Amino acid sequence: MQIKLTGKRALVTGGTRGIGRACVRALAEAGADVVVCHRQGGEPVETLSRELRLTGGDHRFVQADVSRPDDVARLIGECGPHLDILVNNAGVISHVPFHELSLEEWQRIVDTNLTAAFAVTQRALPLLTGGSSVVFVGSKVATVGMPLRAHYTASKAGLVGLSRTLCKELGPRGIRVNVVQPGIIQTMDIPADRLKHYEAIVSLGRLGRPEEIANVVTFLASDLAAYITGETLNVDGGT
Ligand code: NDP
Repeated sequence: MQIKLTGKRALVTGGTRGIGRACVRALAEAGADVVVCHRQGGEPVETLSRELRLTGGDHRFVQADVSRPDDVARLIGECGPHLDILVNNAGVISHVPFHELSLEEWQRIVDTNLTAAFAVTQRALPLLTGGSSVVFVGSKVATVGMPLRAHYTASKAGLVGLSRTLCKELGPRGIRVNVVQPGIIQTMDIPADRLKHYEAIVSLGRLGRPEEIANVVTFLASDLAAYITGETLNVDGGT
């Protein structure tokens, strides 16, 4: 069974690096037209643009900081007239012991990981139609916790509550809302000693690849998942 998204229009936030980039590629390869939201410009945008041209679909890059309301309004303004797939992927992390966590740092992480996901989705609402799919990229640590990440885990746990409620509010309009919770994904160079530690705690014995998250996001975005909403799906190799 092949996923076909021809004629569908998607927006992916944080789409030029890591998991977001893999989602953009997977959606485009399935035939979707993709609006790619990125914060920084430069080489990642140029390379991805070249790659997307090979897929034959329509694509557009919009530079926007999703934690800034004006940028969000401009971003959504570029997405019309309708949006079938919204992937709220942009996210930031830092590692701080709870007793040292400042309100500013808490706010910075929550602003991007949770408040921006709310703002982008609310702004996009008039563009979403029956059959549209919203996916939030959460994190497995939201449900199990992790030292030094109180702000990060709280922001990602917030996405689960948000999606459960949106599933109920938007379900009658035919709009589905789900969360994908990645485990440990290889999106950066990890020192060998830490890599060994991570591999040891994953049942499958290896880190995940960004494409393995993108595959699940693409499935949830497609009509193959037409009866899945309000769901939180761990993609973590068994951690
Ligand atoms: P990366 O750091 O590789 O990429 C994050 C992306 O988000 C970048 O494209 C970045 O843009 C963008 N971004 C960050 N802040 C903003 C902002 N304010 N406005 C617009 N874009 C922004 O992260 P990953 O690919 O690893 O992670 C992607 C998502 O997956 C995140 O939500 C993360 O929390 C989640 N996740 C990742 C895991 C992992 O192991 N990698 C595990 C669990 C969850 P720019 O490059 O321009 O800064």
